Amino acid sequence: MEQNTKKLLTKGLLQSEDLCQYILETSLYPREPEPLKELRHVTAGHPCARFATSPDAGQLMAMLLKLVNAKKTIEVGVFTGYSLLLTALTIPEDGKPENEGSFDFAFVDADKVNYWNYHERLMKLIKVGGLVVYDNTLRAGIVVMPDGLVPEFMKPGKQLTIELNKLLAADPRVQLSHASIGDGITICRRLY
Ligand code: CA
Repeated sequence: MEQNTKKLLTKGLLQSEDLCQYILETSLYPREPEPLKELRHVTAGHPCARFATSPDAGQLMAMLLKLVNAKKTIEVGVFTGYSLLLTALTIPEDGKPENEGSFDFAFVDADKVNYWNYHERLMKLIKVGGLVVYDNTLRAGIVVMPDGLVPEFMKPGKQLTIELNKLLAADPRVQLSHASIGDGITICRRLY
């Protein structure tokens, strides 16, 4: 991997390895449950470790789950994506879609090209007051980087993310917080 790209992906949004490390060592590692610690050590050696959800973002999500007292959750990942949401919203004989408004919490970390489709479906699946969290919404900071500096393989992702962020920000159905944690997460609370 090109040196610049590597730097982009390892320094995090803070652009300071020291500050990233400080947060992890001060507030995260001492409170990290043992099974998660082991999992982190196993995945750290994996070449795709950067795609794993960062532990500090995970810590925030653990708190959000508690705050909304989440009992019924859904995780939309790369391999589950659209089919999972279609299944969750199947329409039985009597015509009323199953599971509508029944989920408390959703985490979306899937194919970026479909994020808006997922959002439309989740706005039906999630109950009013429930949360949907989107991962990678700042994309290592490339959303504000001149195209010339963006590695070729990240260019499509840059445009998709910029489009998604505009659409989410303009969606009156949700209260929104765009947090610069991990690779950027957008927390949406369904309002109606
Ligand atoms: Ca991700």
